[in-house]
Amino acid sequence: MQDIRWKAFWLGLCLIALCLIIGTAKGVIPALIVLAAGLFIYLAGHLYWLNKLQIWLKNPNPDNTPTGLGIWKDIFNALFQNQRKHERAELELKSSLEDFKRATNALPDGIVVLNRRNEIEWCNPPAEAQLGLDLSQDVNQAIHNFVRYGQFINYLQDEHYGEPIQLKSIRNPEIMLQIQLIPFGTEQKLLISRDVTAQEKTDTMRRDFIANVSHELRTPLTVVGGFLETLNDTKGMVTESAKGYFDMMIEQTSRMRRIIEDLLTLSRIESNSEAPQDTVINMALLLNMIQNDANGLSNGKHKIHLEADKNLNISGSQEELLSAFSNLVSNAIRYTPEGGDIYINWQLRNEQAVFSVRDTGIGIEQKHIDRLTERFYRVDRGRSRDTGGTGLGLAIVKHILTRHQAKLEISSEFGAGSTFSIVFPKSRIAHNEQAA
Ligand code: ADP
Repeated sequence: MQDIRWKAFWLGLCLIALCLIIGTAKGVIPALIVLAAGLFIYLAGHLYWLNKLQIWLKNPNPDNTPTGLGIWKDIFNALFQNQRKHERAELELKSSLEDFKRATNALPDGIVVLNRRNEIEWCNPPAEAQLGLDLSQDVNQAIHNFVRYGQFINYLQDEHYGEPIQLKSIRNPEIMLQIQLIPFGTEQKLLISRDVTAQEKTDTMRRDFIANVSHELRTPLTVVGGFLETLNDTKGMVTESAKGYFDMMIEQTSRMRRIIEDLLTLSRIESNSEAPQDTVINMALLLNMIQNDANGLSNGKHKIHLEADKNLNISGSQEELLSAFSNLVSNAIRYTPEGGDIYINWQLRNEQAVFSVRDTGIGIEQKHIDRLTERFYRVDRGRSRDTGGTGLGLAIVKHILTRHQAKLEISSEFGAGSTFSIVFPKSRIAHNEQAA
């Protein structure tokens, strides 16, 4: 296509040349008449095609594009090509969208697209079935109007969607769903719901089995332990040479009892699908209690420091959180040699409440850190056993924290010490409420 400016330039030049020839041959007046007529025809032509363009723009169908003349031919040609390109892109987009919809409809998982106000933009049929939605009616409705569980609302508001949560299906409470939120685009979110009923059944069977075995072992062990202690304490019953064996038997039975108690605690917390009791905890009181227990456990071998924001309280189950906090403090004492320091800290950090325990103990090599919350995972079995450990403490802590939408952060330098921090989401912070 030739440049429109050149075409206009050549046309103008031709008209001037024609006028000059007529001017020299016939005089100035006929030349001016020809110039005026030329300009008039030129202008009328443009007005004609502009009108055609205006009519076409009202319904820009490429098949009805005017053919045009001169520079207008080039303009209409360009418009025609653009319109065709646009139509092709639209078709491709439509077909990709259809493919995407077909693919997401074929997925067994439910998918809901939420906007920044957590309103439903789109969802697939499995999401309709699992969450009780109806796409034809529920678009632009807030998702928490349909999924009304407190646990889900907390998860939605917390805005750090690391760990998925488990809920009963709205339509069928027999079905267990795993819900995960993933941020994408401009403040949009993808909600993915997965049916984990079968997996949950296997987990329940495993948990029940462990709980039953632990329960069955508890009584015989208590009896054996009790008799051993009675025999040991009864004068003349145990010979001097057998005393050492008796002490060992008593120590091992009490170790087995501790493991069984921890296994029962773990299975009780794991199988409790109810949200934890939501009372406001008086943290100042709780932290004093923890510090006193820590002093008792350390027996003067360590310096226990406490620094706390006394006005910062959270809501949750006091019993469960006391167990989690105490576990971290007891670990810090058990894994810090005599003369070391333990720093207990309770403060607000980036709008989140953080409980941390820092020690100057043996530390942990980086490669172990990710596995510490696994049941029975111990860096040094001997040391754990010698200090009365069961290898279940951090697994219990992790489950308690999951129930409170909190997370455990561990940082450590081998040989220098470790810091274990529990980070509570801002929704757990109690504002000006009376603490228990
Ligand atoms: P245990 O009863 O063996 O202490 P836990 O589940 O409480 O079991 O801890 C798991 C492992 O993590 C421990 O065996 C220990 O190796 C390591 N650990 C936990 N806390 C600390 C700490 N403060 N310093 C060093 N190692 C630690």
